[in-house]
Amino acid sequence: MTAPLIDPFARAISYLRVSVTDRCDFRCTYCMTEHMQFLPKKELLTLEELDRLCSAFIGLGVEKLRITGGEPLVRRGIMTFFEAMARHLQSGQLKELTLTTNGSQLKRFAADLAACGVKRVNVSLDTLDDEKFARITRWGRLAQVREGIEAAQAAGLRVKINVVALKGVNEDELFPIVEWCAAEGHDLTFIEVMPMGDMGEEDRLGQYWSLKDLRARLAERYSLTDLAERSGGPARYVRLEETGSKIGFITPLSHNFCESCNRVRLTCTGELYMCLGQEDRADLRAPLRASADDAVLEDAIRAAIAQKPKGHDFDYSRQSVAGQVTRHMSHTGG
Ligand code: SAM
Ligand code: SF4
Repeated sequence: MTAPLIDPFARAISYLRVSVTDRCDFRCTYCMTEHMQFLPKKELLTLEELDRLCSAFIGLGVEKLRITGGEPLVRRGIMTFFEAMARHLQSGQLKELTLTTNGSQLKRFAADLAACGVKRVNVSLDTLDDEKFARITRWGRLAQVREGIEAAQAAGLRVKINVVALKGVNEDELFPIVEWCAAEGHDLTFIEVMPMGDMGEEDRLGQYWSLKDLRARLAERYSLTDLAERSGGPARYVRLEETGSKIGFITPLSHNFCESCNRVRLTCTGELYMCLGQEDRADLRAPLRASADDAVLEDAIRAAIAQKPKGHDFDYSRQSVAGQVTRHMSHTGG
């Protein structure tokens, strides 16, 4: 048995998020510019290389794998990767294989994902209004995402809806979204918008809607009970007593969650980001390609984990955006 991955702050790293592509069929205003420059395809790790890397992490104790992007389901051949990862579920080494998606391709892939052992999907959806959806995503169609969500449910996948809280954009839909999720049986998580990537004309502070404020508004209508439950991640959960539904809050800005961080993020080019909010990263592509022997790769992974920073420095509290990182969320994987 090899030693598990423990960082300098005694946090065990058991969760790997993998961005399998930086490309996407949407252009959400808070995530990308309209004319994003994507990486040349030759820069990307092949699916076989991604398999080898993920398998190395699993060998070192990673138990949860989340596939993200960009939009993971637009990467060509991605189902062969999910099929390959299913072997780690079958061996029991991997406890959960999951993904975060914009839902546009779920209608096509939901049944295949379920067949690979995926049990839950996170679908990002910030509004239930067709026109607003088109405005936020620039290229997306709400009807297609709704069909995708229905297909996921039909395939037996649990759906969690991720909503980025956007001031002046979806504030007025707080209750409709909560009620829709409760009626459909979806879990729901709200996310504060993070200062990632240069958004051109988009104004970060203008977009920022504190979840403290959102929660206070929820409490005007519902009785909220704090839940001790943690999914090993940054979300804090409450139960709405009136509906019995569960709501999560991811609050990197108004409440720092770094002390319990159990995760690292791999990009589609093989860079390992030890913290979403810091520039520190390690190149795993070179050691991956340097030798067919996984010992070299495992040493590089351990060396990277030894560099994991204590936390991020995002801060809007002085009415300015501090701690901004230059890369886009689609590069590191949200
Ligand atoms: N395309 C997939 C999707 O949208 O679910 C997966 C990748 S996306 C980068 C992952 C998550 O990051 C989404 O829930 C998205 O809303 C969120 N996200 C993107 N940019 C963000 C930002 N600047 N602040 C907070 N969340 C962001
Ligand atoms: Fe694409 Fe997801 Fe970013 Fe929207 S949030 S542009 S769907 S990667």
